[in-house]
Amino acid sequence: MFSNVDNMMVMGKSGSGKQPRADVLIRRFGLKQLSTGDIFRHYLGLFNAFGYEGDLNRFYDTAADDFIPDENIKEQLAITGTPDADAIVLGLKAKYYVEQGLFVPDRITNALFESAFRAMNFKGAVLDGFPRTEEQARFLTELLKREGVRLDAILLVENEDELIINRTMGRRICKSCGELFHMEFRPPPDERKNECLKKCNIVQRSDDNVESLKKRLAEFREKTLPAIEYLKSAGIPFYAVPGNLPDYSPERVENSVLEIMGIEPVTG
Ligand code: AMP
Repeated sequence: MFSNVDNMMVMGKSGSGKQPRADVLIRRFGLKQLSTGDIFRHYLGLFNAFGYEGDLNRFYDTAADDFIPDENIKEQLAITGTPDADAIVLGLKAKYYVEQGLFVPDRITNALFESAFRAMNFKGAVLDGFPRTEEQARFLTELLKREGVRLDAILLVENEDELIINRTMGRRICKSCGELFHMEFRPPPDERKNECLKKCNIVQRSDDNVESLKKRLAEFREKTLPAIEYLKSAGIPFYAVPGNLPDYSPERVENSVLEIMGIEPVTG
């Protein structure tokens, strides 16, 4: 089973514990993580580096429920014709949605996902955080069909909202390398012990606040549960794994994933 893997997927609520489970699949099958959250954070970082401090709502047309045209945003930011203009506009939009805990619209997300997946020749990925809506799930299954590649398994990481809220508030991320820490379960090691950490800048994600997290959990219920049902009914092998182990250790996480997927652990 799983001898010739094209792609796998990890799904779950934001903060459910996807990363350690994705790491198991990455190690076991030599895959590479493709995270739409990371893509949006990259653009959000570009926008922050641009240094605009004003209110983002001025670029949003509430009556049309969409941003004003890109050309107008560029004009107002005085970046028309500059090489980074498109990336900065994308970063502005990412910031607007991500920091409120809202899903980025499908149109933007699908296009960015496809281009990152294309760069991998549509193979060798652990999809993380995509798809999150039924529309994205349809887009993905059509893309897989068109490109003649498989999604070999979906791993759903299950966890209760209340636990997630407590866990997420302790979450920290390294701004330099993206490594995740947790103040209680995986505190950042002593800076002097690790060369990388000396340069690291360990911060809380800008969307890790209770209000934004509650919105993300609501978005999951409303939009991602139907996407999961869609993928299940498309016949993709589906496994649910607990995101909260009573006695956490990397080995226990690994064993719980391998066991549920019926994969022999490597011994010796
Ligand atoms: P994550 O790191 O996966 O928790 O994603 C962080 C944020 O990025 C989410 O709360 C959304 O605002 C946005 N995002 C990531 N992936 C998607 C997606 N597939 N569809 C819509 N928004 C997304």
